[in-house]
Amino acid sequence: MNSPLDPTGPGPHAGLEAPHVLAGIPMRLWRIVSLAPHRLLMLDHDGTLAPFHAVRERAVPPPRTLELVRGIATTASTDVAIVSGRPIGELQALLGGLPISLVGEHGWEWREAGGQLVRHALPEGAEVRLARAEEVARGAGFTPYLERKRTCIAVHTRGLAEPLAREVEESVAFAWGRDVVAPPLRLTRFDGGIELRVAGRDKGTAVTQLLEGEAIATLAVYLGDDRTDEDAFEALRDRGFGVRVGAPDRATLATGWLSGPEEVVAFLEAWLRIAGGERLATG
Ligand SMILES: [Mg+2]
Repeated sequence: MNSPLDPTGPGPHAGLEAPHVLAGIPMRLWRIVSLAPHRLLMLDHDGTLAPFHAVRERAVPPPRTLELVRGIATTASTDVAIVSGRPIGELQALLGGLPISLVGEHGWEWREAGGQLVRHALPEGAEVRLARAEEVARGAGFTPYLERKRTCIAVHTRGLAEPLAREVEESVAFAWGRDVVAPPLRLTRFDGGIELRVAGRDKGTAVTQLLEGEAIATLAVYLGDDRTDEDAFEALRDRGFGVRVGAPDRATLATGWLSGPEEVVAFLEAWLRIAGGERLATG
């Protein structure tokens, strides 16, 4: 008898059809989704659920995406979590009330579905060093590109022509120098800039912590588009599936890919169809 997890065998769920249109998603993922007793679906926000917008406050997911996330989260068989670099307050403003867990600031803020906001304290020295980084960057004339958050300072270069974007990023990093770019901070690149972040928590540790709250046989799937999502893909190796959102032209630890937020909609539709199961009584 063929194993249901064997992508070449017919298996008991060979009738799954529509997901074939998603070229980057291996058929075995849908088989495992259909067989798993319980699932945890983790989703990045910007560039995954929400298309990028030059004004960050306007980067909202399309109504259909929100409807699908709500639909999946109100089934009994899938828990949904959003894992983002944004603070939870911003996520709530963009997403409205959804019955899902929110992980903000790359894991420094948590709010379980219906629970209280938990904000982890930063390690000693982090705030002083971030303040110093901000002072140096503003002093060097980079204020238009800066975004200061509790756990990081970001230099946004999205929308700038390529040579200028690189120049701004390199100049800020140079201005910071080794006395600012040092533990407990780490300098990381993202699509559209660089950021100096407090080390110790990232999307990988967030995924690991979310899984600790789940039953052992839970299938974990994570969708994300950026370099910071690679930590999550790595945490899921051998424990689930990472799906990278974006053209399949970059080295990644993810197992599958979706071309952009439009294909994420098709992915969520397929998920709801295959894993829909029972509705929660409260849903
Ligand atoms: Mg993203």
